[in-house]
Amino acid sequence: MAAYEYETHDYDVVVVGAGGAGLRATLGMAEQGLRTACVTKVFPTRSHTVAAQGGIAASLSNMGPDNWQWHLYDTIKGSDWLGDTDAMEYLTREAPKAVYELEHYGVPFSRTEEGKIYQRPFGGHTTEFGDGPPVQRTCAAADRTGHAILHTLYGQSLKNNAEFYVEYFAIDLIMSEDGVCQGVVCWKLDDGTMHVFNAKTVVLATGGYGRAFFSCTSAHTCTGDGGGMVTRAGLPMQDMEFVQFHPTGIYGAGCLITEGARGEGGYLTNSEGERFMERYAPQYKDLAPRDYVSRSITMEIREGRGVGELGDHIHLNLSHLPPEALAERLPGISESARIFAGVDVNKEPIPVLPTVHYNMGGIPTNYWGEVLNPTADDQNAVVPGLMAVGEAGCASVHGANRLGSNSLIDLVVFGRAAAIRAGKVVDPEAPNPVLNQPSIDKAFDRFDGLRNAKGGIPTAELRLEMQRTMQSDAAVFRTDESLKEGVEKMTAIAAKLGDLAVTDRSLVWNSDLMETLELTNLMPNALATITGAEARKESRGAHASEDFPERDDENWRVHTISRVEGNKVDLSYRPVIVDPLTTEAEGGIALAKIAPKARNF
Ligand SMILES: Cc1cc2nc3c(=O)[nH]c(=O)nc-3n(C[C@H](O)[C@H](O)[C@H](O)COP(=O)(O)OP(=O)(O)OC[C@H]3O[C@@H](n4cnc5c(N)ncnc54)[C@H](O)[C@@H]3O)c2cc1C
Repeated sequence: MAAYEYETHDYDVVVVGAGGAGLRATLGMAEQGLRTACVTKVFPTRSHTVAAQGGIAASLSNMGPDNWQWHLYDTIKGSDWLGDTDAMEYLTREAPKAVYELEHYGVPFSRTEEGKIYQRPFGGHTTEFGDGPPVQRTCAAADRTGHAILHTLYGQSLKNNAEFYVEYFAIDLIMSEDGVCQGVVCWKLDDGTMHVFNAKTVVLATGGYGRAFFSCTSAHTCTGDGGGMVTRAGLPMQDMEFVQFHPTGIYGAGCLITEGARGEGGYLTNSEGERFMERYAPQYKDLAPRDYVSRSITMEIREGRGVGELGDHIHLNLSHLPPEALAERLPGISESARIFAGVDVNKEPIPVLPTVHYNMGGIPTNYWGEVLNPTADDQNAVVPGLMAVGEAGCASVHGANRLGSNSLIDLVVFGRAAAIRAGKVVDPEAPNPVLNQPSIDKAFDRFDGLRNAKGGIPTAELRLEMQRTMQSDAAVFRTDESLKEGVEKMTAIAAKLGDLAVTDRSLVWNSDLMETLELTNLMPNALATITGAEARKESRGAHASEDFPERDDENWRVHTISRVEGNKVDLSYRPVIVDPLTTEAEGGIALAKIAPKARNF
């Protein structure tokens, strides 16, 4: 057994992650006087949320008529009828409150002439239950909304005496013999010391796993660590096959040009200069949802109408917009286009290509953020002591496809919900749990094994193999053949985790070891993604199968539950929650309105 000395810290709540979700949860916990620690592997304001550009959705009606029922309908349709209706109702109903709270905390939103929060149109957000024109629902702080939110929430959390453990890497959860989460084992990156956090509730807010793919818009830190930890605790993940490709990553560089660019009037063209979205989505054109636009771009390229020397990308045009509007509303992307594509947006189009952007799947939870174990006898039973929020979680409000600007609102609504729930279930007077020592020892053993790994494959090499396989075999369009081949390849790649070579054995700033731990987290996420995709014999949202092009509600309106052990994935299914929280008579939405139908735009 590996012997590591460690320091123990006692808290009511430990939040792992300081992105929008983690910080909103931390702030809400601390505000109620719970002793709260936030553990993060990067400085809070460097979390990926800082890169969110376009905005945060809430039906404030600042720029025209809107209401939460319309927002709910759009979210359900966007999810291609795979989201859980209770959670989607909670999200859209609470959204305005959560945004006004952000405003009062100090988020510097852009303003209208009358001083109200500025809102822009975004893909898939409409009026009149999808029959009316696009709605301006996305609240923005220029094109730096995530940046504004993150800095504000960090300041407010400090003000409320939350304690931050910065550059601490969470290795594994501490679980009791009977399945209660008791805390988390961490490695302090800058001095190599080890830390055990003992808590009545652990909140995983570790973000997505975009880095399982070769080309993605997310930060290098988005390695699905929460999913990895949950998997090793024997718990399943949900709906992992649904991976969102954002239509407009900068060609070659992969970094994002926000959908807000199309919201402000930008449009896509092919090599013939044609605004091709008019053909695919006659009603909403460039403002159709992301899965739709990404597939349309891919079709144009396949049919020989791509731009550039290789005909392998598409143009995003902004040069018809007034320079003042670009400077005021889209300064960040004007800069990104200049730096990463060498383009002056006032004069030339930006070369773009669909790029991996968001993970709809994650750790299954109810709409209070409590983690579920749908492989247990009672599919709705919660895992005591464990919550998950943000991109790491799956409530599920995005189903098979997330609408733009619905993630930032998911972070704050469910970060806040987790805090409200913890206020009810965590007793500050109760003693902390007695930690299960074998669970701690197991975490250190695994850590030590990787630290001393003397196999034949460097971490970076195996990571690249995984990323290339996922990119080519779990792409915008998928075929049965490519998925089958992908599952085989990924099973073999995951088996090589046992043959890793780590060269640096030190404990201080050992990035080789940290990236190795991250790879062991990425791998189960990737495996569950491709295995779930191979098994799903239909097309729904972001999962577009060429062999099964139709949505099949009779057989497949179910959540995929995947349990990963080593390089094996066990799949099971759980029904989608179709009932909203309130009935039409109680002011909710009419059931007839949300019954599944064809998804056209
Ligand atoms: C470029 C870009 C632009 C986007 N724009 C928008 C937008 O305009 N509107 C919108 O709604 N959505 C947008 N999204 C999506 C949205 O920003 C993300 O889904 C969201 O920010 C994820 O937030 P999070 O809090 O879940 O995780 P993150 O912000 O990714 O934070 C994860 C946190 O977990 C910590 N962590 C992870 N692993 C560990 C570990 N092992 N130990 C300790 N700490 C750990 C990290 O340090 C970090 O603090 C965008 C995404 C990208 C990539």
